[in-house]
Amino acid sequence: MNTSSKQSKEPTTSPKTHTFPGGHFDNKPRIGISQCLLGDEVRYDGGHKRDAFLTDVLAPFVEWIPVCPEVEAGLGTPREAMHLAGDPAAPRLLTIRTRVDHTATLKTFSQRRVQELHTSDLDGYIFKKSSPSCGVHRVKVYTEKGQPSKRGTGIFAAAFQQSFPLLPVEEEGRLNDATLRENFVARIFCYRRWKIQVQQQRISRGVIVDFHTRHKYLLLTHSRAHYDALGKLVAKAGQYTPAELAAQYGELFMEALKVKATVKKHVNVLQHLAGHLKTFLSADERAELQESITDYHRLLTPLTVPLTLIKHYVRTRSVPYLADQVYLNPHPKELMLRNHV
Ligand code: SF4
Repeated sequence: MNTSSKQSKEPTTSPKTHTFPGGHFDNKPRIGISQCLLGDEVRYDGGHKRDAFLTDVLAPFVEWIPVCPEVEAGLGTPREAMHLAGDPAAPRLLTIRTRVDHTATLKTFSQRRVQELHTSDLDGYIFKKSSPSCGVHRVKVYTEKGQPSKRGTGIFAAAFQQSFPLLPVEEEGRLNDATLRENFVARIFCYRRWKIQVQQQRISRGVIVDFHTRHKYLLLTHSRAHYDALGKLVAKAGQYTPAELAAQYGELFMEALKVKATVKKHVNVLQHLAGHLKTFLSADERAELQESITDYHRLLTPLTVPLTLIKHYVRTRSVPYLADQVYLNPHPKELMLRNHV
């Protein structure tokens, strides 16, 4: 048995504080994960699906909450392979050879386990793709004649998403896409910050206004419309109790981050940042920064190139408003996520 994680409900890394330049993080995100992705031999065939990015790169910066629905529901390892069958909107979970129906077992387990996970303070979840229990997108559902259509969602993944509509959720396969990966990791760190700074520690209108100000440019790389709506909400902060304001802001904030950040939106934000820096730079420095933004826009360099230049100027010219922007450091630099977008 591979021992990279245990079949327990406890985090698989110590809950140590982790900080890094930018100072926007003081706690590791807690991420639910399909247990086979960590290298544990819980699959139907006794194998695993260890994912190197998750176990070798992301692991030091998060706490894993591993779940194997099929093992925890008592189906054992090894076990007969299963698939989804019937109506894609309400599929059954059947063993492929002997046609044993495990739908009720998995559904009952899922309802109970999802309720338990509400006490785990999760900031995101990474599911194994294509699994009849864990797959989120395009899971095969078979007709009685054995024809597959990729229209299903795994039984546990469906129950989870219904119960956690705001939580960032991804499949490990989609995390191979650099843009989706960067987006997902930014969202889990944002969600952790939101909960720590606003919900758990000190709910007040001032804290929410400050949070909104520091996330301005990050929000703008996702959705201008959401940023404007959040701005209107914050402007009317006095009309709400802090708890009401936090609930509405949190929902809209996480919805905004679901919208994909694009090169065009990043360029727009980089130009705003360059505008703020203008008075602090020489003509040569301004030209160099513009060239760097243009190169990124033409996809000649990754995002990290103009951003490194901007961060250098923010630091050396002491521009406090920009120094506080989460956009400059949304996740640990060791992950190098912006070297590929
Ligand atoms: S995909 Fe889900 S159910 Fe299947 S082995 Fe992995 S964790 Fe267990």
